[in-house]
Order: sequence, then structure tokens, then C-alpha cells
Amino acid sequence: MTAPRTLREASCADDYDPNAMPVAKARELIRTFLSPLTAVERLHIRQSLGRVLAGDVVSPIAVPGHDNSAMDGYALRFADLAADSETVLTRVGESFAGKPWGGVLGAGECVRIFTGGVMPRGADTVVMQERASESASGVRVAAGVVSKAGQNRRFAGEDLKAGQTVFRDGQRMRPAEIGMLASLGIGEISVYRKLRVAFFSTGDELKSIGTTLAPGEIYDSNRYTLYGMLTRLHCEVIDMGVIEDTPAAVERALTNAAEAADVVITSGGVSVGEADYIKAILDKLGEVLFWKIAMKPGRPLAYGRIGNAHFFGLPGNPVAVMVTFYQFVRDALFVLQGDRSAQAQPTFKVALSAPIKKVPGRTEFQRGILTSDSNGAWSVRTTGDQGSGILSSMSQANCFIVLGTDTGNVAAGELVEIQLLEGFV
Ligand code: AMP
Ligand code: MG
Repeated sequence: MTAPRTLREASCADDYDPNAMPVAKARELIRTFLSPLTAVERLHIRQSLGRVLAGDVVSPIAVPGHDNSAMDGYALRFADLAADSETVLTRVGESFAGKPWGGVLGAGECVRIFTGGVMPRGADTVVMQERASESASGVRVAAGVVSKAGQNRRFAGEDLKAGQTVFRDGQRMRPAEIGMLASLGIGEISVYRKLRVAFFSTGDELKSIGTTLAPGEIYDSNRYTLYGMLTRLHCEVIDMGVIEDTPAAVERALTNAAEAADVVITSGGVSVGEADYIKAILDKLGEVLFWKIAMKPGRPLAYGRIGNAHFFGLPGNPVAVMVTFYQFVRDALFVLQGDRSAQAQPTFKVALSAPIKKVPGRTEFQRGILTSDSNGAWSVRTTGDQGSGILSSMSQANCFIVLGTDTGNVAAGELVEIQLLEGFV
């Protein structure tokens, strides 16, 4: 498929079927409309956790800066060790981490050295202290204890060389990256600015927490799961609350959201029949595609543009909101954030511990509980009732059980694909 340039072109493509859009196809199509942020800001590395690096980082120094010892022991010349008898060496100094010994090691000499201590000039090898014994007569090293020259010696630049590209543009900052920057003495970096994501809920039945419920009303939970997921993905969150279910209020909210944010997310109201006026407003304000994704849960989904903002219209059901966020919005946000280090969430094959009923035709994302038995063997079962309104299933689950379109019933013992929730969002 050559990438369509506009959403209208996409909706005219030969194989485009809004009523049975495969998950992978929808993902691929959305991908063609995304381009990364370009605005950057400077941050102290401590503030950069989870942010995306803008520009390459080149190492100003070598790490480590000097050859040094990997062990507490004695620095010596390998050539001094006798192959088939004990060697006695004379201790001539000490090299502590941060306090090198200034001399040059001569024949038959050794230096007491500690982990991280600079290798004395003339020494090429370290014997660990447990393999040597020191007394008034000298340091004794038994035959064969040191098998080769260079043992227990760390080389200058073995972690990073001066001038080496350490990180490329688009690298997500994790604790390891922050630590590496610190090891180079770099305290400040450029990152892409935070992605601004605005969202609101619509529905006359929805009430915000802090109010009491009349019969038939429910508390709006989608804004809270969205808040949590977006915060974990290091977005700037703009919570616009529950918007009154009238054309004028929804139009105003969408217009304001698109002006304030890079991404606008709504939940509910995109299912066919329910509120066609939302569709009409979206058509008026921008270009939006409405799909019935061949998946469960998460059937209705809308994607498009309102002004310069990307628009995601998620289903209303609380589980469907989370599933569609994990499966579509997450990857899209990564692209927009400029993250080039992101990967699709991996799937693993695990044995099913209880049978699952499924009708072929849609990809299902069932909520699963992955556990290990006393032998360390892992297996997975569902959380039980898979209704798309049962949010407790997402809370009980630690993984999705991903059942492909063509899959039917699955028997206990069969292998199924899972995606871990932890680290996904
Ligand atoms: P809809 O797509 O608007 O027809 O909503 C589908 C189902 O999700 C209905 O049962 C709604 O009450 C429920 N729902 C919609 N929005 C929310 C929300 N923000 N929080 C909790 N439940 C919601
Ligand atoms: Mg509704």
C-alpha cells in the first residue's frame, strides 16, 4: 500500500472497509499520518526521565578514563609469574580508587590495588587478593593462579570512547541512559517538548467524582484511566471534564481542545447510531475516519485531524478505552513524541490453563492472569467475565491474551500469545 496523503484518499482506497478494519491495517493507516514534534527544551538529566532525546549525544571523554582494576588484589607483570612454581613479589605501593600510585612497576614488584584503582605503569595484570597471600617476606602467588596476561584489568574507553556517538536522536531516557550521561559528565540535554493531550467525556449519564449519583448515572472513569495512561507516557494532560451532550457544547469542546493540544482524545459517542451529531461536527471541524475495528473489545474507533491536532475517538466502554489506547494510541503517541527507540509491545507464547471460547472473525484482547507454578512454569488464564464494561478485569489482569482473527475456541494446554501490561503503558 502506498501511503495515502489525506484521510479522504485513505477512505477511497480499494481495500478500505470501515466496517471490518483489521487491527494491523488501522494501525498502519494511522501511522502514515503521524509526524514527530520538533520543538525542544533543555533539561537537567534528572528531569529528563521518560523524555525523548533531541539530537545525538557524543561522548566528550572516554569511560573509564584510565586502565583500572576490576578486583581488590595486586597489580603485577604477568611475565614475572613462574609457570610451574610459586612467585614471590615485593610490594612497592598502593593504588586506591581515586588515588593512583605514581611510580613505575619494576621486575619482581607488585602494587596493592583496589577495585577502580588506576593500573600502575608497568603492570598489566591483577591477581585477586583471595588468590595471593601477603606476609613480611612478600606477596606470594601460586603457580597457575593467573591464567593469562591482562586478567582483572579494565581498559580505558571499554565502556565509551571519546568522540563516540552515545545516543541517537529519538532515544527515550531511562535510568540507564541518565546514568550513562552522568558518567560522561553531561548534566543537561535537549529533549522534545511534552506532547499535549486534551480529552473529555460526553454522556448524560456521566458524573464527575465528588457529586452524588441519581438513578441511572455513573461516575466517569474513562478520564481517570486516560489520565493515568497519558501520564505514564509522559504527556502533558489537559482534562476538559464531562461535556454536556449537546451539539453546541461538543463543538466548542472539540474546537478548544484542538487549539490547546497536539492530540485530542474522546471516549464514547462514536458508536454508530448513538450520536450521529458528533460525526457531523467532526466532519465539519476536520477530517475523521470512523471504523468498526475487527477486534473485541474496542469495535468503534475514529481517527483523524481537527485543525493541527490528531483526533482519537475511542469507544465509551471503560475496558474498550484501555484496550484501544494500548493497541493504537500508545504507538501513535510514541511517534509524535519523536521516540525512535520504541518497539511494538512484544508477544510471548504461554500455555493456557483453562479453555477459552471464541468465535473466529475478530482479534480478541482478553484480560489474562499470568502465573508461575512451583517449578517456575508459566501459564495464563482469563480474568473471567470479559464484558467490555468490566473495568475490574483490567485491574486483575497482568496481561492481554491476544487471540488472532482466525482463532476459534482454545483448549487448555494450548499455547496462546500474551502481551504483558506492565511496561506496555
Ligand atoms: P457510548 O460509546 O457512549 O455508547 O458508551 C458505551 C458505554 O460506556 C455506556 O455504558 C457508557 O455509559 C459507558 N461510558 C461512556 N463513557 C464513559 C466514561 N467516561 N466513564 C465510564 N463509562 C463510560
Ligand atoms: Mg454515550
